[in-house]
Amino acid sequence: MSALTPRPGIMKIAPYVPGKDSVDGKETIAKLSSNEGALGPSPKAMAAYAQAASELHRYPDGASDKLRTAIGRHYGLDAARIICGSGSDEILNLLVRAYCGPGDELLYSQYGFLMYPINALGVGATPVPAPENGYRADVDAMLAKVTDKTRVVCLANPNNPTGSYVTKDEVRRLQAGLPKNVLLVIDAAYAEYVSKNDYESGVELVDQAENVVMTRTFSKIYGMGGLRLGWMYGPAGIVDTISRLRQPFNVNLAAQMAGVAALEDIAHTDASRAHNDLWLPWLSAEANRLGLAPLPSVGNFLTIGFGSKERAAAANDWLMNDGLIPRMIAGYGMAEHLRITIGTEAEVKAVRDSLQRFVAAGK
Ligand SMILES: *Cc1c(COP(=O)(O)O)cnc(C)c1O
Repeated sequence: MSALTPRPGIMKIAPYVPGKDSVDGKETIAKLSSNEGALGPSPKAMAAYAQAASELHRYPDGASDKLRTAIGRHYGLDAARIICGSGSDEILNLLVRAYCGPGDELLYSQYGFLMYPINALGVGATPVPAPENGYRADVDAMLAKVTDKTRVVCLANPNNPTGSYVTKDEVRRLQAGLPKNVLLVIDAAYAEYVSKNDYESGVELVDQAENVVMTRTFSKIYGMGGLRLGWMYGPAGIVDTISRLRQPFNVNLAAQMAGVAALEDIAHTDASRAHNDLWLPWLSAEANRLGLAPLPSVGNFLTIGFGSKERAAAANDWLMNDGLIPRMIAGYGMAEHLRITIGTEAEVKAVRDSLQRFVAAGK
């Protein structure tokens, strides 16, 4: 008898390392490592969450009906073509499990979100990265990597950790160039932050094609990462497929209730967006002024280039020593950069002050 062995691919996974949440021996001033919304959850979502406490013995609605209706109303979508999940991570995983298997290829862009290759390896498929151009997904490079084994293409738009986006025309060109039997997953986790005329989240393309889905999350602008809530919008055929595969009660009761309340609090969402519109360009300008190299970002984070991996690591230590926790992104092949979430005004200013002292110290 041979020893117990996991299925092929699984031992090739480098486990996902979440952003750090504390600094050894230091008071944490700000956790800026996971792109959690700066303003936290809506007070209305918190109240709904508290209300769920007395109902915890009840199973949640397996179809997340009220939540899907609320999402549909808020975003102008057909609720029947929405599926909710335990974070968009769960949805991304279900999509790969449904459409990709051993011997297949999952295509993504070089600095794309790490969960894509992890999901591919998990089902025994081969993750295939396409080179980026200036830390931005390159649609032509992606299309050039399509083979007859390609089953799923994952595109984060905007992308984490680069903060870049591809235009609606580019996304359409990508979709148009894919064979009809390839699924295009548009991961729009940061869509609510983007206000560019040439950007679209993916809704329109989902409505026009049979092989495109868009995923969204409550973890970023809605500030509810701790609850685990995400959703996808897709064509009826894909929605039917994922409905068969997902667990019957995959979205917990508190998440469903808080999600509905969060959507209703438009003022809070608007305030979160306005906060980002103010402090993202401010921190970017300050980083430039200090001679650092921030990448253009449309998300709720800024990824700053330090010119070498040694200097980025030194900046990481420096910020940590000030109780500020950035995200090292060497796991993405971006060891010369640090990703920093746009926090509260005080947090953003503390980051600028810390980086200013770092540069002034000749580091
Ligand atoms: C944060 C993030 C997600 C995951 O969000 P959850 O809904 O919390 O699972 C997905 N994609 C990208 C690009 C992200 O940055």
